[in-house]
Amino acid sequence: MSDEREILRAASARLAAAGVDNPRLEARVLWEAARDPAPFESFIARREKREPVAYITGHKEFWSLDFQVGPGVLIPRPDTETMIESVLTEFPDRAAKLRVLDLGTGSGCILAAVLSEYPNATGLGVEASDTARAIATANMERLRLGTRAEIRPGNWAEALDERFDVIVTNPPYISTADIATLEPDVREYEPFGALDGGPDGLDAVRALAPELNRLGGTSFVEIGIGQADSTAEILSAAGLHVLRAAKDLSGISRIVIAQSQPLPKKELE
Ligand code: GLN
Repeated sequence: MSDEREILRAASARLAAAGVDNPRLEARVLWEAARDPAPFESFIARREKREPVAYITGHKEFWSLDFQVGPGVLIPRPDTETMIESVLTEFPDRAAKLRVLDLGTGSGCILAAVLSEYPNATGLGVEASDTARAIATANMERLRLGTRAEIRPGNWAEALDERFDVIVTNPPYISTADIATLEPDVREYEPFGALDGGPDGLDAVRALAPELNRLGGTSFVEIGIGQADSTAEILSAAGLHVLRAAKDLSGISRIVIAQSQPLPKKELE
């Protein structure tokens, strides 16, 4: 017992020296995951180099569900739970047979969380990365959503020709210049393609906007700090009707919600 306390004290001192924010808590979390001094030593050594805790443990909680994560997928963020709350607000009927599309599904956390709230809903997660697709597929199976969720390869909505009630997406939205200012945990370990949104961070939104209008439904788009107005403009220009922006727990506009207004089918003459 006092051995364990000594090991934890030494480990949290090393993590503090490496500049991590919550060294005691993280030492404890890594100890719980390792449960033995030998793997614990290697976990601490990895964390000292600023590898994210979630990659070391292989897990991250999101919307009270346990997700498998690893290098190659963005680690689920608490901010993104605002997305799930927004869907619940717009679609209060939990029995609804919603058809849900998640563009750039990554670990699958958004799609899985939405499906977990609507037992009659089915979903499609599109993801370009092989690594992420394997993890998303495993997560759907682990969460017993495998029969309601399909994970498919694709470059955004390119190959799709189906209408969805709900489209959710957390695209890369950090401007290329800002990537250098991110914590090393993010910058050096998380997939660049899931973070880099081009010169102003809005490249993905520009690519997605016409597709959201074509395939939706109601779209829920995660954005970065200060991007609400420009995102709303881009979506409006593509023909969508912007409903509102939902704020995250820090009071930052995080999710832009917009309604598709597809062009009416031409009348047959
Ligand atoms: N929220 C992530 C971060 O701040 C960025 C995710 C994204 O670009 N979609 O690191």
